[in-house]
Amino acid sequence: MKNVTLSVDADGIALLTWDMPGRSMNVLSEESIRDYGAAVDEVIASPAIKGCVVTSAKRDFIAGADLAMLGGWSAKVAGLPPVEAAKQIFGWTMSLQTLLRRLEACGKPVASAIPGTALGGGLEVVLATHHRVMAANDKAQLGLPEVKLGLMPGAGGTQRVTRMVGVMAAAPLLLEGRSLSPAEALKLGIVHQVVAPGDIVETAKTWVRTNIAEAERVAAARAAGDKKAVPAFAPAWDQPKYKLPGGGPQTPTGFPVFMGGGAQIRKNSYALYEAPKAILAAVYEGVQVPFDTALRIEAGYFTKLVLGPQSRNMIRSLFASKQALEKGAHRPAGVTDMSVKKLGVLGGGGFMGAGIANVAAGAGIEVVVLDQTEEAAAKAKAHAEKEAFARVAKGRMTEDAAKALLARITTTADYAQLAGADLVVEAVFEHPDVKRQVIEAAERHLPVSAVFASNTSTIPISDLAERSKRPERFIGIHFFSPVEKMPLVEIITGRKTGDEALAKALDFVRQIRKTPIVVKDARFFYANRCVLRYIEEAHYMLSEGVKPALIENAARMIGMPVGPLALNDETALDLGVKIAKTTKAALGAAYKEHPAEARIEDMVTRLGRLGRKASKGFYDYPEKGKGKKRLWPGLAEIFPLAAEQPDVEELKLRFLTVQAVEAVRALADGVISDVREADVGAIFGWGFAPWSGGPISYIDTLGPDRFLRHCDRLEARFGERYTPPALLRDVAARGETFYGRQVGQAGGKAA
Ligand code: NAD
Repeated sequence: MKNVTLSVDADGIALLTWDMPGRSMNVLSEESIRDYGAAVDEVIASPAIKGCVVTSAKRDFIAGADLAMLGGWSAKVAGLPPVEAAKQIFGWTMSLQTLLRRLEACGKPVASAIPGTALGGGLEVVLATHHRVMAANDKAQLGLPEVKLGLMPGAGGTQRVTRMVGVMAAAPLLLEGRSLSPAEALKLGIVHQVVAPGDIVETAKTWVRTNIAEAERVAAARAAGDKKAVPAFAPAWDQPKYKLPGGGPQTPTGFPVFMGGGAQIRKNSYALYEAPKAILAAVYEGVQVPFDTALRIEAGYFTKLVLGPQSRNMIRSLFASKQALEKGAHRPAGVTDMSVKKLGVLGGGGFMGAGIANVAAGAGIEVVVLDQTEEAAAKAKAHAEKEAFARVAKGRMTEDAAKALLARITTTADYAQLAGADLVVEAVFEHPDVKRQVIEAAERHLPVSAVFASNTSTIPISDLAERSKRPERFIGIHFFSPVEKMPLVEIITGRKTGDEALAKALDFVRQIRKTPIVVKDARFFYANRCVLRYIEEAHYMLSEGVKPALIENAARMIGMPVGPLALNDETALDLGVKIAKTTKAALGAAYKEHPAEARIEDMVTRLGRLGRKASKGFYDYPEKGKGKKRLWPGLAEIFPLAAEQPDVEELKLRFLTVQAVEAVRALADGVISDVREADVGAIFGWGFAPWSGGPISYIDTLGPDRFLRHCDRLEARFGERYTPPALLRDVAARGETFYGRQVGQAGGKAA
């Protein structure tokens, strides 16, 4: 046994300790499960062992299942007939279920001593022990986050948690993957005791010791022929008179919970996600049958999810690819650590600048905020103060940490204060002359080794770099608003951007814990280019006379977090008009006017409907506390409704296709070089249907050939915004997938 050790004390209490060598966290892998199984066998079989404590030698308990193991399972069954594949995965799932159940039902008292976080399969391991002692550890989280990756607990979690706390209380844990602090877990009854971290093992042993006599009493009764004797410490569901807390689906109290649960899943996510549906079904069926049958039901649904494309795509994009990009998949090899020590933020008193300064100071970086005047710069500090103390009020930050954060921010109007900064991010007005002026002024005071980054949304980085004396140290770092909330950052390399600048930008993004994608310098970069297609498609639909509510709902029904008209209101209609004008100026005769363009301009200029900021745009926004936003009824006068409305399925397909084909164009143009970035950038940049794993995963799963046929048909009807790029035709003609093609080219990089 490499991953788990077993020792037995003088009282016959075994201590079973998880400690995987060479890893900071324990995980459930094939090997570690095998070792745990061997230790459990010994605990059950040895007459010298009277009871057992399960613990971890690491700071945390078990972080969850090793997702590589699940990937390995899928690879092993690839190519098998579906029933055969399902049988195999079901068998592997049941072997862990059986192992945990054997320990739970062995008749000896088993406690767990949990030093820190126990997530997913890690929590399931301790749920299958009789008594849980948790360390009072601020950082510890207990939860079942599988649903967030398109999966569900598959080691008894859905059945044990529900039977412990009832369906109502289990729902947020199982269906939303919400995790609990030790205190919350204690209150809910998921753990029994919270004690000082150094005392967990002794406390757990004390509990075991006091239950040994009960174990022996029951063992004797069973030996005397009373096969129904159950120790008092066995779980509630093994006790003869067990009843589900709150009642099962066939009871007057339980029935509405199940009905409501199904409806809630539809309301929240239009039933796009397979995992919550499977979880609810497993619980519904499971609580009506004996526990061992319930475990088989859970394993069945788990198998179905593992074999479905949704969990594979979600795990790949939301976990594996995201992590690979954050760890520097595109960081130039051989450049040493370029972590930022002192950051300058130009225009730091503005909307974006203040956000950038705040997240950087939050990451422990010293920040100099520069703006036109001292007062303007001071706005950044006021913003950081408001944000920090809101977190203090919610108990998410200590007052000392808030003060330390603020102490890292200096505000000024004096460029000399930038001396010693190793990175500068400019977020001044979006005008080339203003940008040029601040680039030149800053470079006079910066060390030659410093990197200069621009947060521009529309000006080419290579053009701005020409204003710089050291274009090889010039780069784009494009944030999304609001900076604190949006997880994605686009790093834009100009024609002359060098490796050190790229490494610097990537190291900075890692420090502030955001997810980077590296994008080539092209109009609107990647995310905005695609999201513009989404908004623009809604404008086309309006021009065709489609009902605005149908447009918004169709988009929500494919899993977009915000409808395109609501999103347009957020980003401001006047900004759209301004961008259209500059694009027109840049493209000249090649510019094609949108059929809605003049009418939207009219909404802006004549009616002052600028969007959210003016409390009126496509929606009307009532005053705070006076109800929800509503689609503006006057829209029907500007965009008269067609007598016949289209099928919502067609609108859904249009929204998916128009965004996905733009993502392929970005790949074809070399704006994005890696399919993983196309997918991760889409989900974290503009919220593209997370269930799909991103636009490229969507195309691969649908089949590039089928997607191409959709494009061809939509192009014939609606024009060239659907025209498939040659790359798509090529992938489809060869019968490849985009991921498969990239793996082929890069020797497995995107797998
Ligand atoms: P903003 O108007 O809120 O802030 C601009 C700040 O720059 C102001 O505080 C202003 O005083 C300051 N400034 C202007 N001229 C200056 C000068 N010569 N020297 C020093 N400071 C000067 O604008 P914003 O929305 O924060 O946008 C800033 C940049 O970020 C723009 O390039 C924009 O394209 C880009 N951006 C904006 C968003 C967004 O959603 N707002 C998103 C991504 C990128």
